[in-house]
Amino acid sequence: MMNDDDFYTNQRIREEWHQNLSQDDAHRSGIQFARRVRLARVVGLGALFFPIAGMLVTHFHSGGWWLALVGWAFVWPHLAWQLSCRSPAPHQSEIQHLKIDAVIAGVWIGLMGINVLPTAALVMMVGMNMMGAGGCRLFLAGVVMTFASALMTLALTGRVVTFAPDALEGWLTLPILVLYPMLFAWLSHRTAMRLLEHKRRLELMSTRDGMTGVYNRRHWETLLRNEFDHCRRSHRVATILLIDIDHFKSINDTWGHDVGDEAIIAITRQIQMTLRAGDHIGRFGGDEFAVIMSGTPAESAIAAMSRVHERLENMSLPGAPNERLRISVGVAPWGTQFGHYREWLKAADVALYKAKNAGRGRTEVAA
Ligand code: GH3
Ligand code: MG
Repeated sequence: MMNDDDFYTNQRIREEWHQNLSQDDAHRSGIQFARRVRLARVVGLGALFFPIAGMLVTHFHSGGWWLALVGWAFVWPHLAWQLSCRSPAPHQSEIQHLKIDAVIAGVWIGLMGINVLPTAALVMMVGMNMMGAGGCRLFLAGVVMTFASALMTLALTGRVVTFAPDALEGWLTLPILVLYPMLFAWLSHRTAMRLLEHKRRLELMSTRDGMTGVYNRRHWETLLRNEFDHCRRSHRVATILLIDIDHFKSINDTWGHDVGDEAIIAITRQIQMTLRAGDHIGRFGGDEFAVIMSGTPAESAIAAMSRVHERLENMSLPGAPNERLRISVGVAPWGTQFGHYREWLKAADVALYKAKNAGRGRTEVAA
């Protein structure tokens, strides 16, 4: 039978797992990207329908062009979304759809004889989407595609280039010229906020212990190193504590791991409730905790710990009401004798073992 250790030491399974995870991530972010573009496309093409329809009315174009316009403005945004959702690579698929937008925009520009205002609106929409999706390279590719397609349409339809905007089309273009940049800015803002939240969550995950929410060992040691440097520079007072639950193995063996976990969480909460908000609590894994108390002498740290001992005497676990939880604590105030933060930590460890050897359920200070 495979246990957890086998799983994590199995290189091949681990690599496959990472690969699947990054494929899932790429697919999910591709779908999110396609969803953002869908909203922009629904609004942008919906608004562009009016100036282009105005041009079709003014120039008496045939029913086929009307069908193409209705299809592009109202059906294509949803079709493109469905195609991206079904694609194994949604991001790449959406980039292709943006290129199709660029080519079709060129067709309308050509058909309007490069009528200035609607052309500006079409180029703006294609340009913003391309720039937002793929930076300068995709933007340039999109502009080139739009103008190539416009020139081709002019050549095929024999339409004369007028540039001059008809009054009707000019007015009908105004809403998209005003609204689209706002929509785009809002979508960018929303994406930036999501990224910020994502970053915050990643930071939490990399610095916290998953079970208790206090700092993990790696981050706690970084804080200890900073505290040590501060103490050395300004000779300020600070104390560290190492805390270990007594006979924790027997709690696990008697009541099961669930109750053991419950005990770890309950002790963390008691420590948090007793200490000040500025004290840095970390879990070293297993049943061991560590605390940095800046600006606190050893006597105050011991007094705080006796309050924790008292609280634990009066606390009972729902899963094991008769079990009394006890802890042993090693205390080490900062001193000039420590040349490295690890020596400071070692002193607290020695004090902890002194507490264990002296009968447990007590606090001892480093000599
Ligand atoms: P001592 O008084 O000398 O500290 O005795 P002890 O039984 O507490 O011994 P020790 O501190 O070495 O035991 C730690 C045990 O904690 C070993 C391991 O089975 C258990 N343990 C480690 N991590 C977890 C966890 O996340 N949950 C639970 N339930 N148990 C854990
Ligand atoms: Mg223990």
